[in-house]
Amino acid sequence: DRAEAASAPITDGALSDGTPVPLLANLGNPAGAADAVALGAEGVGLFRTEFLFLSSSQAPTVEEQRASYTELLEAFPGKKVVVRVLDAGADKPLAFLNDSHEENPALGVRGIRALRASEDILREQLTALAQADAATAADLWVMAPMVATVEEASYFTEIARDYGIKTAGVMVEVPATALLADRVLAVSDFASIGTNDLTQYTMAADRLLGSTAGFQDPWHPAVLRLIREVGTAGQTTGKPVGICGEAAADPLLAVVLVGLGATSLSMAPTALADVRATLLQYNFDDARAIAEAALTADSADGARIAAQQAAAPKK
Ligand code: PEP
Ligand code: MG
Repeated sequence: DRAEAASAPITDGALSDGTPVPLLANLGNPAGAADAVALGAEGVGLFRTEFLFLSSSQAPTVEEQRASYTELLEAFPGKKVVVRVLDAGADKPLAFLNDSHEENPALGVRGIRALRASEDILREQLTALAQADAATAADLWVMAPMVATVEEASYFTEIARDYGIKTAGVMVEVPATALLADRVLAVSDFASIGTNDLTQYTMAADRLLGSTAGFQDPWHPAVLRLIREVGTAGQTTGKPVGICGEAAADPLLAVVLVGLGATSLSMAPTALADVRATLLQYNFDDARAIAEAALTADSADGARIAAQQAAAPKK
């Protein structure tokens, strides 16, 4: 009955053959942690730290940050929590980090570029994260946004290590980074694909512009081929490749992403149940075949239909 179903334990994310696919939460505030746990999040795949400071005119203090990160990590003892350092710029400008006079802010000094230009702010954030990590029992991973070069990836790994961060990685949101994923992963502990920005930059279409919304579709085979590049690099280097863009919340696309080599999926907590149920309908060979069908299409709609057809016999 309903009450029994509601109280039944939620299983960890997996394919029908038992292949684990950890299902993680995207969060922008530690206040969302309890709900995410109740919905079965096995950890956090993306904590967007910039959301805490969108209305701040001054850089947050180490103490203020330590308190927020500690609250987050305390909700996930023994679990993986991936925190992204400030991703300031474009759709999320921070008054204390960004120059508001850029004509093309999505192509400007944003993400890791902005943090390097104000390295004290990055160092303070890493200090606060290391303090929160030392005081709690979660498995903290830290990643850099908008990485475009191998040099930026190794810069970030080195500076994170200076603060005792054990697991340092990069977001793959720029096509250049996807294409060089094997080189990037050689100097990083993990990658997490941000499909929102990866789609925007692959299709050259502003993700905030209504008139180009038709281009902002992560099913586009050009986007899927870039994701495959990263998944393959993850397999050859033995490094984890997560997905933390909105694409992971689309149940059939989640199956495709696993078939392309994603080892975990992170999404809005309300999407977890549907994705969990759909993954359980396919084994890894099915996921590979469904992904292969999508890759050979020549449009986003074509890829969606090809994947639905490849998935249909099992449904
Ligand atoms: C992304 O770009 O897909 C991502 C997860 O980061 P954000 O949406 O915060 O830019
Ligand atoms: Mg992004």
